[in-house]
Amino acid sequence: MQTRAVRQGDQYAVNGMKIWNSYGHEADWMFALVRTSSAGKPQEGISVLLIPMKTKGISLRPIITIDGNHILNEVRFDDVMVDADNLIGEENKGWTYAKFLLGNERALIAQIAQSTKLTEKIRYVAREQGIADDPDFRHKLAQIDIELEALRFTNARVLYEARSGTAGNGGAILKSKGTFISQALSEIMLEATGYYGMPWQMGALEDGWNAPEIGPAYAKNAAPLYMRQRANTIEGGTEEIQKNVIAKQVLGL
Ligand SMILES: Cc1cc2nc3c(=O)[nH]c(=O)nc-3n(C[C@H](O)[C@H](O)[C@H](O)COP(=O)(O)OP(=O)(O)OC[C@H]3O[C@@H](n4cnc5c(N)ncnc54)[C@H](O)[C@@H]3O)c2cc1C
Repeated sequence: MQTRAVRQGDQYAVNGMKIWNSYGHEADWMFALVRTSSAGKPQEGISVLLIPMKTKGISLRPIITIDGNHILNEVRFDDVMVDADNLIGEENKGWTYAKFLLGNERALIAQIAQSTKLTEKIRYVAREQGIADDPDFRHKLAQIDIELEALRFTNARVLYEARSGTAGNGGAILKSKGTFISQALSEIMLEATGYYGMPWQMGALEDGWNAPEIGPAYAKNAAPLYMRQRANTIEGGTEEIQKNVIAKQVLGL
């Protein structure tokens, strides 16, 4: 981590860059991990600062993802002055706080509720598309449904263990399995919608276009969803990192 915050009186001067910032263009504040010391291991010397997004010296560059959405941004900090009161907890202890937040974020990215809803939608789409009774299709969906049911139980177990306030390393288990399921479901959804999942309509994005749409409404976001879900195994820490956390912190290998 290269973004630095240097204490100057009762403020920090922040300089550097943060890529993959979700919803930064809509946010009033960001919590930023900044380097306040280079001593020790890379995880040491990190602090968490709360920074108002309107502060002088902050600039955003939008990143448009493959599904056509603008959620991500690259944020630059050029001599951004932040009150020292905006430091969360102790200086140089930021990675400890970040790990707490990451545990909760990973549990969220497992998106068990969304996958449950998507499973219902896939069943509806399959009926509409006339493939609900296809043995191969049913088998594929049932396999994922079983995985999802097992994940619900794991989620309940992690929640019980998280009475102290965080999903902790259990978040890595939920994320690893949950993102496998969400990606598989997005693939099945695309398969269920068939060619309606990715219609090509010349001029559809132009002003004044009012020709009838191709295909049913339920198929519209199948392809963008499929593409968006590829990021699931990257955001919040990659799949390889989750496996490392599970191996070291959960299984003690
Ligand atoms: C859609 C999306 C939204 C995001 N939103 C945010 C956000 O709001 N805020 C934010 O701060 N970040 C956000 N991110 C960034 C995200 O957290 C990082 O991209 C992710 O943690 C991976 O880090 P990296 O990009 O530095 O990849 P790297 O760490 O450089 O990884 C590159 C490759 O090396 C592998 N690798 C790295 N280390 C190891 C290791 N020790 N063992 C084995 N393999 C390894 C990885 O698995 C990966 O394949 C977002 C990313 C995406 C895709």
